[in-house]
Parts: sequence; C-alpha cells; structure tokens
Amino acid sequence: MAFEGLAERLQATLKKLRGKGKVTEADVKEAMREVRLALLEADVNFKVVKDFVNRVKERAVDQEVMKSLTPGQQVIKVVNDELTQLMGGSQSKLAQSHRPPTVVMMVGLQGAGKTTTTAKLARYLQKQNHHPMLVACDVYRPAAIKQLQVLGEQLNVPVFAKGENDRPVSIAQEAVTKAKEEHCDYVLIDTAGRLHVDEELMSELADMREAVSPDEILLVVDAMTGQDAVNVAERFHRELELSGVVLTKLDGDTRGGAALSVKAVTGCPIKFVGMGEKVDALEPFHPDRMAGRILG
Ligand code: GDP
Repeated sequence: MAFEGLAERLQATLKKLRGKGKVTEADVKEAMREVRLALLEADVNFKVVKDFVNRVKERAVDQEVMKSLTPGQQVIKVVNDELTQLMGGSQSKLAQSHRPPTVVMMVGLQGAGKTTTTAKLARYLQKQNHHPMLVACDVYRPAAIKQLQVLGEQLNVPVFAKGENDRPVSIAQEAVTKAKEEHCDYVLIDTAGRLHVDEELMSELADMREAVSPDEILLVVDAMTGQDAVNVAERFHRELELSGVVLTKLDGDTRGGAALSVKAVTGCPIKFVGMGEKVDALEPFHPDRMAGRILG
C-alpha cells in the first residue's frame, strides 16, 4: 500500500504524544525529529521537510496548545492541518468552461500513465453526465493512438485521430472544432510523451497551448518515481504553466515523496490520483483525506 512506511512511523511517533496530560517543548522537539526523519525517508523534498517541521514546531510550542486539556492531541491536530496544507489544503477541482467545450491537455513523460489517465478522465466525466471527446495527438507512437482508440471504444467515447503524418497542433485544433459540432463538452487531448524532458517536446506543447488555449494543462506523473516526479513537474510548470497534476500508481507501494512535495515545490495542485490500471481507477484528490489516511 502507498505511504505504508511513512504512515507507520508517523503514527508510532504521534502515539507517544496522544495520551500525555502534559507536553513539554522537549517532547515536541523529540517528536519533530522523528517526523523529520520519517518524511526524509519517504523521499519528501528536504526543503519542504524543513519548512514543514518548523511550521509545526512553531504552532505546537504555543501556550494554548501546551496548556490545553489534551495537549498531545492538539499537537497531532497541528500535524494533520499542516500535512493537509502541504498537499494543497482543499480539493482542487477540474475546470469547467462557461463556453464549452472545456479543453484539457494531458502532458507527461512516456510510461507515466498519460494515455490510460486520459481515458480514465473520460470515464470520470462520463459518469458525471458530461460528453467527453478523446484526441490522439501522440503521433510519434502509433501504439498510443491505437491504445486510445481501443479505450474509447470500450467506454463508448468518440476518439478523434488522424494519420501519423499530421501535425499534433493541427489535429488538436481540428478536434476542438469537431467537438463543438458534436456537442462534446470536454476535449481531452493525449499529447506526445518522450523518455526525457526535451526542447522539442516542450516547444510542440507550447505551440499547442497557443493554438487551442486549454482550460487545463494536466501533468501526469508516476508517484513511484518520487523526487524525479517533482523535478519533472517543475520543468513542465516552468515551460507550460500547468494547472494541475495527476499522480498515478498510488495503488503501488510508493513512499509518498511526490504526493507530499509536488504542491509545495511547484505550486501546482494535485487534482486526481490513479489507483490502478482499470479505467475506473481514478479519484479526485482530497488533501484532508490523504492526511487522515497517513496519520491513521
Ligand atoms: P503513457 O506512456 O504515459 O501514455 O503511459 P500508459 O498510459 O501507456 O501507462 C503505462 C503503464 O502504466 C500501463 O501499463 C498502465 O496500465 C499503467 N498505469 C497507468 N496508471 C496506473 C495506475 O494508477 N496504477 C497502476 N498500477 N498502473 C497504472
């Protein structure tokens, strides 16, 4: 399960505080030393860890907390609040344009789960009575076009695709026009991915952004890759101004580093998480629920 090691360590540390009738500054410091190590071990960005621990300490070593009837529980509440804030505070919802269709560009590196996530998002929208259209712009990988077509058929969602020789930017433009004609209210564009972030990829994505003025640019990253995922997010955000992140493979045994660092490092909220390979395995991300799950 995701975050298992982190959850176990944090829960064990905070358990020591829970029942205490009196909590001293030294108790808080000791607990925060352990919290710091647990977060670092979960591959959370070191600067994020430092700021987090300082904020918790500052709020916890407060007279009102210390002198309350349940000081241990108050400290735990501070940790819970700060963890929630770290992951974005409240839920960050998918945009919905007042003038449909809402255009969503899905970007990311190969293997992150971009194509699968694009189909999952279509499924998610379909369940909310929307009419999405999938657009195959990953023309450098014919298998990706086929993959999207198969998924679209499975979901009964239209897939806009062209030959491998068409330019992704014009495919995207044509797709938006077609979506208007067919009364689709969401256009989900599966863009090309590469093995590494490179100039060519970025300039193609920037051209597409210019051409279709998306309401959302969602970066799909693999949670299993920890700080690498955060670095990828930083790069993409610098070049494209992302509106959000989708963290995939949270059903695996990821340590938690990406989920806990990406918002703090890039400023981009996590909007969805992938919880499996099936098309139904996509969930909106709730920072408070995730914090609750980690702290038990
Ligand atoms: P792309 O190259 O980024 O388009 O990646 P794909 O969509 O082809 O996905 C790569 C692999 O990751 C596939 O085997 C997917 O089934 C798998 N995958 C995607 N999302 C998830 C997820 O949330 N959990 C798990 N376990 N596997 C996933």
